[in-house]
Amino acid sequence: MQKHDQDFIRRKNRITVFELIKNSSPLSRAEIARLTGMSPTTVSRIVSELHSQSFMREIEQITSSVGRKAVLLQVNPRSVLSVGVEIDKSSIRIGIVDLDGKIISDKQMERAGNEDALITLERIAKGLLVLLEQEGLDKQNVVGVGVGLPGIVDYSTGTVLFSAQLGWKRTEISSVLQKLTGLEVAVDNELKVKALAEHLYGSARGSKRSVLIGFGSGVGSSLIIDGEVYRGETNSAGEIGHTVIDPNGILCECGKVGCLQTYIAEASLIEQANKVKPITTLEELFQAKNNGDFWAANILDRAMTFVAVTVSNIACMYNPDTVILSGKLVERFAEVREFIAEKCMGQFVWEPLRGTFQIVYSTLAGDGVVIGSGLLAQNLFLDIDRQLEQADHLTLNH
Ligand SMILES: [Zn+2]
Repeated sequence: MQKHDQDFIRRKNRITVFELIKNSSPLSRAEIARLTGMSPTTVSRIVSELHSQSFMREIEQITSSVGRKAVLLQVNPRSVLSVGVEIDKSSIRIGIVDLDGKIISDKQMERAGNEDALITLERIAKGLLVLLEQEGLDKQNVVGVGVGLPGIVDYSTGTVLFSAQLGWKRTEISSVLQKLTGLEVAVDNELKVKALAEHLYGSARGSKRSVLIGFGSGVGSSLIIDGEVYRGETNSAGEIGHTVIDPNGILCECGKVGCLQTYIAEASLIEQANKVKPITTLEELFQAKNNGDFWAANILDRAMTFVAVTVSNIACMYNPDTVILSGKLVERFAEVREFIAEKCMGQFVWEPLRGTFQIVYSTLAGDGVVIGSGLLAQNLFLDIDRQLEQADHLTLNH
């Protein structure tokens, strides 16, 4: 057996033991050996390795009526940490995320809208080190970095193919940030990581098939089936913002006419409002509607109708058990949520689908992308299939 094959098996066994303890703790060494089929010697070696790196802790528990104590093992949630990064047009947020999907500590930085990708990544690398130092943490305990951002991302190569908001095109993220930090890096679309976070630790816990729809600076969605993000051929599955709903409609930033997001996205609503009155925020638009300005009511009534239509179309397409609504338009404005509660299921959703799914609101809200990105990095660390691929790759190259 070649050395890298042995290394790989060691790593695979290590992850198997770690995942077992993570999901079924507390467990004794003997139970781990029984459940994995590994020899007690192998289990002991792996456990002491994991223990010495403080991935887990021992607890003593009385296990029998005669009061015998057993040493059981538990994963230490704070010892498996990852870094979640959210990059937006005007801000960067870096958070340290633990195994329970909690942000232990975070740091926010401003970002100029036209900032070059390399400068953004260098600032992230520096910020990350400062944050770890602040918390008295060691880079050894960080299993990787996950990055969530708006745009089309080639997840397998860690490249941003196109991001209108960040102004990046065919930009390598993973390899560059990996060099700068010395840590493994995964990058994905922000709605995909947000959906992952909501699925594991937020509003869609326990759901088998959930769809997250984001109504923010753009409109998009992300589908999770049995815990896995559905990506499509080029990781663009769910880009509903650019589905055409009116071939005679308004010109979209993408160059097409009548895209869904031209009726719902924040910038489009503000642009339309400015044909009548100069405003800069959605708050002003809602204020105008509440003051009885019929032009504002026209814009917003149409937008809310399209939100409801979108939920209905998504339900028809994917037949999910849960639809998670997120983004500024639904999170900040109660009347949008009231409209959805009143009209969506009753009027817009196709009759056979009514009552087959629940509509929930993002509970992680502003933290969702950082948490989801952190979880993405943890998944990378725990992904045996990916490590198998790497091992194959190594074999091919030797
Ligand atoms: Zn478009």
